[in-house]
Amino acid sequence: MSRLVVVSNRVAPITEGEPAAGGLAVGVLDALRAEGGLWFGWSGEVATDAAGLPNPGRRVGNIDIRTIDLSRKDYDEFYRGFANGTLWPVLHYQMGLSRFDWAEFAGYRRVNALFACSLAGLLDPDDMIWAHDYHLLGLAEALREAGVTNRMGLFLHTPFPEPGVLMTVPAHAALIRAMAAFDLVGFQTEPDRTAFADYITRQAGGEALPGGHLHAFGRGFRTGVYPIGVHVDEARAEAELPANRRQALRLRANLHGRSLILSVDRLDYAKGLRQRFLAFERFLADSPAAHGQVIFMQIAPPSRSDIQTYREIRQELEGEAGRINGRFADVDWVPLRYLNRSFPRAALMPLYAEARVGLVTPLRDGMNLVAKEYLAAQDPEDPGVLVLSQFAGAARELDAALIVNPYDEAGIAHALEQALAMSIEERRGRHAAALDVLRRNSLDVWRDRFVADLRAG
Ligand code: UDP
Repeated sequence: MSRLVVVSNRVAPITEGEPAAGGLAVGVLDALRAEGGLWFGWSGEVATDAAGLPNPGRRVGNIDIRTIDLSRKDYDEFYRGFANGTLWPVLHYQMGLSRFDWAEFAGYRRVNALFACSLAGLLDPDDMIWAHDYHLLGLAEALREAGVTNRMGLFLHTPFPEPGVLMTVPAHAALIRAMAAFDLVGFQTEPDRTAFADYITRQAGGEALPGGHLHAFGRGFRTGVYPIGVHVDEARAEAELPANRRQALRLRANLHGRSLILSVDRLDYAKGLRQRFLAFERFLADSPAAHGQVIFMQIAPPSRSDIQTYREIRQELEGEAGRINGRFADVDWVPLRYLNRSFPRAALMPLYAEARVGLVTPLRDGMNLVAKEYLAAQDPEDPGVLVLSQFAGAARELDAALIVNPYDEAGIAHALEQALAMSIEERRGRHAAALDVLRRNSLDVWRDRFVADLRAG
């Protein structure tokens, strides 16, 4: 069978026997462990003498790991610039936060070509290449220019915006042409796939054929929908594991029987944190009976803090948290706990299980694994309630959650009241329905379906 070669912007630091952090890393590792293979990507190092040559290889179990370093210019133009300064906001419909510079786009293409050239020398003729995410939209085109003819697939973890939104990126035509060089392009949800197909047919003169096949730029390729999932039983087992529960036990002791509303997000403007804080404020203003009875804890590890917009949102949230607590806190109760730090993934599971409400309200999100982890970690006998943004990919599957518009403060406040008052029968019913969906679309299913489709051609 052909070897699987996974390419992602970062290769997660992995150690044998230890769980990996993050959905992409867990999914990719599972895929590679299942049959062995190669994982290729950026080392995370910015080196002054980066020549694009792969660093010495490492082997963990049956996985070969190869990385390259980036130069400062690569990092600034490719990573901070086009990938995270232009593409990320537009992919999440935040066009006002996007900036564009042709030099940065050239840097993005240059780094995709650098990945391709370094990788080409490591490939066997029947290797199957699986690229991940918005950093590598140009990888297949660059590999083909380097003479590589292997099968190549891309999975986009982010949303894919409607054509009119994507076209605010001046380089949209070149980007889509590059994506069409893959043999298979996978999306999280059907609306993402449809948006891409719409661009191909309406803007690129291409043709949509049955079965997700598209024809454009003189070649045929396939698209599909592969919602990423979680390991349902593992999440629940981790929630119960004494070694993971230390913080959760401290938290429980400190709640004194109050109900916990929990949110966990990277500190990112697409996660809707400010709107969520304001919705919680609205909830407190509308529900005096909840004062002293409810605590909202926001875990928000800093992310991409060398980008200006990310520094701004951090300052803004600190201000809002202080203001809301100043307005409502009492001598024995502080309503909002804002934790600007990260937790190991396994330690989050018991925290999810402590929370009566999981509040997940991104403005846009490809999937949102926190929503799925929250549900998977619950005690089925006494489960909490998920309040979920209609603009998270997960909302396409999880109609058993309370679905809200993340821009609607009053609507979120009302959903919080509903969730906190929900009967145990209704909570159990909604949780069981959600768990069925999570099992059907588990992380294993995601990986197996994508790999099988890529292999089938
Ligand atoms: N996560 C973590 N520690 C934290 C916060 C988050 O391990 O302190 C994990 C979380 O469990 C989830 C992932 O990071 O698996 C976040 O994935 P999601 O799809 O929700 O959002 P993303 O960060 O990919 O936009």
